[in-house]
Amino acid sequence: MRNKFTNNPASQLRWVVFLLAIAVILPTVCLLWFMTQAVKNERLAIRQKLIDSYTSRSQDIFFKYPGSYWNTAEKNLNVFSALVIYDQNDKIIYPVRSNPNLTAPSDNLQKAWKLEYSDKDYEEAIKQYELIADSSSIVEVIYECKTAITRCLVKQNKIDEAIAKCRRLVYPEPNALPIPSTQAAHAGLMLADLYSKINHTDLYSELKSQLSNTLKLNVSTETKIFILEELIKTAEKNGFAGNLKTEIPIAQKFIDSALLSITAADYLDNHSGLKSRPLNTFLKIQTLEPLYGIYFKNSDRNILGLLTTEKMAQFWQKSVDDFTDELVFCRIYDDKGRQIAGRETADGEIFSSLKLKNYFAGWKTELYFRGGVFKEAANKKMLVYIWIAGAVIISMLASSLLAGKAVLKQAKLNKLKNDFIATITHELKTPLSSMRVLVDTLLDGRCESKQQETEYLQLIAKENVRLSRLIDNFLTFSRMERNKQAFDIAPASPVEIANNAAEAVQAKFEKANVKFNLTVSKPLPMINADKDAMVTVLVNLLDNACKYSYDNKQIELKVFTQNDLVSLQVKDNGIGLTHRQMKKIFDRFYQTDTSLARRAEGTGLGLSIVKFIVDAHKGKINVESKPGKGSIFKIIIPAIKNQSGEI
Ligand code: ADP
Repeated sequence: MRNKFTNNPASQLRWVVFLLAIAVILPTVCLLWFMTQAVKNERLAIRQKLIDSYTSRSQDIFFKYPGSYWNTAEKNLNVFSALVIYDQNDKIIYPVRSNPNLTAPSDNLQKAWKLEYSDKDYEEAIKQYELIADSSSIVEVIYECKTAITRCLVKQNKIDEAIAKCRRLVYPEPNALPIPSTQAAHAGLMLADLYSKINHTDLYSELKSQLSNTLKLNVSTETKIFILEELIKTAEKNGFAGNLKTEIPIAQKFIDSALLSITAADYLDNHSGLKSRPLNTFLKIQTLEPLYGIYFKNSDRNILGLLTTEKMAQFWQKSVDDFTDELVFCRIYDDKGRQIAGRETADGEIFSSLKLKNYFAGWKTELYFRGGVFKEAANKKMLVYIWIAGAVIISMLASSLLAGKAVLKQAKLNKLKNDFIATITHELKTPLSSMRVLVDTLLDGRCESKQQETEYLQLIAKENVRLSRLIDNFLTFSRMERNKQAFDIAPASPVEIANNAAEAVQAKFEKANVKFNLTVSKPLPMINADKDAMVTVLVNLLDNACKYSYDNKQIELKVFTQNDLVSLQVKDNGIGLTHRQMKKIFDRFYQTDTSLARRAEGTGLGLSIVKFIVDAHKGKINVESKPGKGSIFKIIIPAIKNQSGEI
C-alpha cells in the first residue's frame, strides 16, 4: 500500500489539516454537547438543592417559631397587645377584677339610698348620709356617703356647693382620712363632670390630671376602663380632645389593652384556665377577633402575653425577614386567607406551600423563588463552562498546531534526508565513475601517449581532490549537526586567510578562466579566528561564486577594515539570487535548483557550514544580490584592537 505521507508536501498538508480538523472539531462538538447537558442538569440540580435547603430552613423558621424571637419578647413586654398576669398559684393578678361581694350595705345606708333614689327627697337623703358618715368607722362607707352627698347636691342643682364638696374629696385636707382609690376615681370623674356643667375654667386641667391619675390608681381594671372612657367622652364633648393629645391616646391604649386582657381572662376562666397550657407556646383564644397568647414565667409571676392578629403579623414578619434573602421570599396567610406578612406582590415562582401547625391551624406560608434566580445561577455556571471550554479548545488548537508543525517538520526533514542521500549518492558517483573510466583506460594500456597518461592521472587526482572536499563537507556538517565541531581560535591575520583561500581555488579558477581579483586594503588588524575554518569559509564562498557564474566569470575577494571590524567580501557577476532565495540559502540542504540534473555540483551544505563557522566567530554574514546581476557575500568579524594583521 502506498504510504499517505509520501514526498508530496501538498498531500501531506491536506492530511495534516484533515487530522487536525478531526482532532479539534470532534472534541469541540463533544465538549459543547456536554456543556449544554451539564448546564441543563446543573439548573435542575441547583433548583433541587435550593428547594431542599430552603425547605429545611423554613422548618426551622416557621415551625420552631417563635422560639428565636421569644427571648426578646420576654424581656420587652411592650411587644404584646395586652397581658394577663397570674401569681404563682395561677390566680389572676391583672386584670384586677371588681369584687362584687363587698360587705352588705347597712340598713341605714339602704334607707339613705331609698330616700335618694325612690323618694327623691335629697334634703333628707343628705342628712341620712351625713349621719352614717359621722357614725361609721369604715373608710369606704364614709367616702361612699360623702360622694352620695355631692350627688344629691347635684340633683338639687346646687352645683357650686357640689363642686366645693367634690373638690374636698378630690383634693383632701392634709390631715383628712385618706380616700380609697375607687371613691377617689369616682370623685375625680364627678368633679370633671361638674366643671363641664358650668364650663368651669379648671375643666381642662382637671381632665388632664384625672386622665393621668386614674391610670395610677389601684382600682379594678373595669373601674379604670369606665372612668377613663367617661373622662375621654367629657373631654371630647367639651372640645378638649385636640389639647389632650398625649393623655387621651395613652388612656385609649390602656382601655383597648385592658379590654383584651379582660376578654382573654374571661375566656380562659371559662375554658379550664391555663392549667393545661404548656409554657412558652402559643395558644389561640377564639374570641370574635382571634387573640394569640403565649404563657411564660417572669420572676415570681406567670404572664400570658396577648397578641392581636395584627401584632402577630409583626411577629411573623420577623420570621419572614429571617427567611428572605436575595434568592427567596415568602408570604404568610391567616386562616381567613388574609395575607398577614411577607412581600406584597407574588412576583416569583412558588416552590413550596407549608401549613402552619398547632395554634395556627389554617395558616399557611408560601415560599417563592425570586424571578430570574435560576437563569442568573445557570448563567453564572454557563460562564464558567464557556471559559473552561474556551481554554480547552484553545489548548487543543495550540497542541494540535504544535503537533501539526512537528509532523510537517518531520516530513520536511524526511524529504531533506531523502534528497540528501540522493544528492550524496549523485555527488559521490560522479567523481568515482569518472575516476573509474580513467583508471580502466590506464589499466587497459589504451593511452596513446605518455602525455595523455599524465593528463589522465592529473584528472584522477583532481577528481580525488573534489571527492575529498565533498567528504570533508559532509564530515564538517555531520560534526556541526552533533555540535562536535571544535574551533582552534587564536589571533589570525585576515590577509593570510584570504591568501590561503585564494591559493586553494587558484587552480580551479585558472581552469575555469575566472578573472580573479584579490584586494587587501591596509592597514588591517588581526582577528580572533580558527584560520583553517575561516579559509574553508572563503573557499566555499569563492567556490560558489565560480559555480554559480556564467562563462565570463569575474570574481573579487576583498579584505578591508571598517571601524573595529574586518570585512571579507566575495563578489561575483553570476546568476544572482531572488529575495526569497536569499532568505533560505543558509538553511541546510537548501539549493535553488533541486533537480539532480543541475549544472553545478553541490550538496546544499556549503553555506550552512559557512554560517555555522561565522557564528562561532561571533561574526555576521550577509548577502546582496539580484537575479542575473551577481552576488556579494560579506563576512564581518570583530577585530583585535592594536594588533596588525598584515603580512
Ligand atoms: P551547494 O552545495 O548547492 O552549492 P551551498 O550551501 O553552498 O550549497 O549553496 C546553497 C545554494 O545557494 C546553492 O545551491 C545556490 O543555489 C545558491 N548560491 C550559493 N552561492 C551562490 C552565488 N554566489 N550565486 C548564486 N547562487 C548561489
